[in-house]
Amino acid sequence: MNILTSKVEASRANEVDATNIQFGKSYSDHMLVADYIDGVWQTPQIIPYGNISISPATTFIHYGQSIFEGVKAYKNIHGEVAIFRPKDNNKRFNISAERLAMPHVPEEIFVGGMKELVALDSDWVPNQDGCSLYIRPFMFAIDEFIGVKPAEKFRFMIITSPAGQYYNKPTKIYVQDKYVRAFPGGIGFTKAAGNYAACMLPMLEVKALGYDQNLWTDGIEHKYIHEIGTMNVFFVLGDKVVTPDLSGGTILAGVTRDSVIKLLKEKGITVEERPITIDEIREYYYKGELKEAFGTGTAAVIAPIAELYYDGQTLELPPVDEWQISNWVAKHIADIRYGKVEDTHHWMMKVK
Ligand SMILES: *Cc1c(COP(=O)(O)O)cnc(C)c1O
Repeated sequence: MNILTSKVEASRANEVDATNIQFGKSYSDHMLVADYIDGVWQTPQIIPYGNISISPATTFIHYGQSIFEGVKAYKNIHGEVAIFRPKDNNKRFNISAERLAMPHVPEEIFVGGMKELVALDSDWVPNQDGCSLYIRPFMFAIDEFIGVKPAEKFRFMIITSPAGQYYNKPTKIYVQDKYVRAFPGGIGFTKAAGNYAACMLPMLEVKALGYDQNLWTDGIEHKYIHEIGTMNVFFVLGDKVVTPDLSGGTILAGVTRDSVIKLLKEKGITVEERPITIDEIREYYYKGELKEAFGTGTAAVIAPIAELYYDGQTLELPPVDEWQISNWVAKHIADIRYGKVEDTHHWMMKVK
């Protein structure tokens, strides 16, 4: 794939304070831009990071044809930079694109462009333990037209931002039984911008009550568990690991979720993907069998849950340092990423 590259005159990489990285506050020297016009992807360009200029009539601002992904690159203990499972993010991006009547982004642009961008800005990948370069691919409709119709022109971009060690303070979770994130037939399985817009008010409301995040439930009975904010959810019930299945089209198919399931199964732990109700979780809790509960996602990787609030009751989880399963899987994923154990699944894609 031909990519036109115009480099910055002087890198800003040395301006980042490696001991105090604030997520999402600084962006690396370059970004990738590719436009889709008349049914054809134009030659991608890697250019200095900076503002873009668009018409106020640009369709995505008004009607929200806008999707994104979240990926991370790591510097391993041998000093090599590698991206975690980018092809899986490309596949999911194209699933989101289809549902929002947007074009697929081919692998040579999505993955190939990402590799070139990260290779060029490899000085921006922090090398301390637990740190990474967060990669944000996204696409939005750029027709200059305010009638409501599927757009014809689109822009795909990738920006990157250094991410520090994520301190996973066990979270307090509110089981949401008023608002709905996703409904069968809707766009819950996509990383569409609008899904997050709809969650902002419920997020503010539960924060005001002292909780960190919502645990979303189904929109019909508010009984079946879906997922947390931007994370999939797992429960350790007795000696089994249980997570909601993806068949309803209301849950985002996390790459971290898939990685956790594969690693646990490989270790001989029973993992069930099936519908789970909040009542079942409560029953296990009162039997003393709710052992661990955690969210999974690219940003936090494994986020332990300290307590679940539901309908006037608080279910408190045991202390996190006693958790066998999630602590093992969190460490194992980190060891794969930093090259400390063999990457038997070929999840790490080296950039050079
Ligand atoms: C991104 C996201 C996840 C986690 O997906 P990963 O691929 O593991 O990062 C889960 N749920 C929602 C709603 C998300 O947006």
